Amino acid sequence: MTKILLIYTGGTIGMIKNPQTGELESFNFKHIHDHVPELSRLNVEIESISFEEPIDSSEMNLQHWTQMAEVVEQNDVHYDGFVILHGSDTMAFSASALSFMLQGLRKPVVFTGSQLPIGTIRTDGKENLITAIEIAGMKDENGAAILQEVAVYFEYSLYRGNRSSKISANQFEAFQSPNYPELAKAGVQIEWQKDRLFRTDLAEFTVFTALKNNVALIRLFPGMNFEFYRAIFSDQDVQAIVLETYGSGNAPSDVLFQELVTSFIQRGGIVLNITQCGSGAVQQGAYQTSSFFERIGVISGRNLTSEAALTKIMYLLGKGHSDIREKLQESLVGEMD
Ligand code: ASP
Repeated sequence: MTKILLIYTGGTIGMIKNPQTGELESFNFKHIHDHVPELSRLNVEIESISFEEPIDSSEMNLQHWTQMAEVVEQNDVHYDGFVILHGSDTMAFSASALSFMLQGLRKPVVFTGSQLPIGTIRTDGKENLITAIEIAGMKDENGAAILQEVAVYFEYSLYRGNRSSKISANQFEAFQSPNYPELAKAGVQIEWQKDRLFRTDLAEFTVFTALKNNVALIRLFPGMNFEFYRAIFSDQDVQAIVLETYGSGNAPSDVLFQELVTSFIQRGGIVLNITQCGSGAVQQGAYQTSSFFERIGVISGRNLTSEAALTKIMYLLGKGHSDIREKLQESLVGEMD
């Protein structure tokens, strides 16, 4: 029988209301079957493992990503797929990070969560959990896993993890993948878009956990005072900066800003240009206001999400590649076009 490992990290999905206090509390995940009896009717063998202390996903950090990646690594041979239950707030960051950390992955790793706790009547958690498990267990006619990458399943849609972003704090449809269409849609049946699925060309599955967070994120806004950012540009520990620019990669021609970016790059810093628009791509040089970036060696992040841009840099800094600039321009695990 198909075996799935549920990895519970925390978040709203694993909560029930305490009838005495009315407060939401995490329940012991070992008792998941009591809260979702439907799980026993799935034709899948499910085992679960939980973070010792389940967390709100706002607390996520590099150690938690390592923990998740190691659980997948250690259990890879024993399970057909993995479902990671995670708070929705930072799910897109974790899914992006894991897509880089799990190199050569050939199994499904499906992140899901919910907007309402699983113990409430109108919960979206049950459908999300049950369908995520079903997706993680699906095989093709040759017995190979259909999904062989890190994905996010939420409200009837399956997205590539490193293309997804949380877009709503209160709608059940909380995620979108603005620059890459859904991998599958759950209706009466799971409708796969097989031509959109990622396939690795690496021979072996390896897990890389030594991410480095020597990266800063700066989002431009009209009227910003670049003096405030001098400290970031001149801090020797900052190895890379993700710049969230306007439209197709544009920025003001402010002299101080240009000086700060130029000297940062001259001392070996990496600047990656992504757009703060919800969709579309950076095209440096399309406007005069982005030609400067092209001239001084700012790298175009094309249509990367912020989540994928930051985690890709953390991965590449950790790897210590001397060719990090080239690697940033390549799509490593389907994260950009
Ligand atoms: N704050 C919660 C979290 O991200 C929200 C959720 O679970 O969706 O952990």
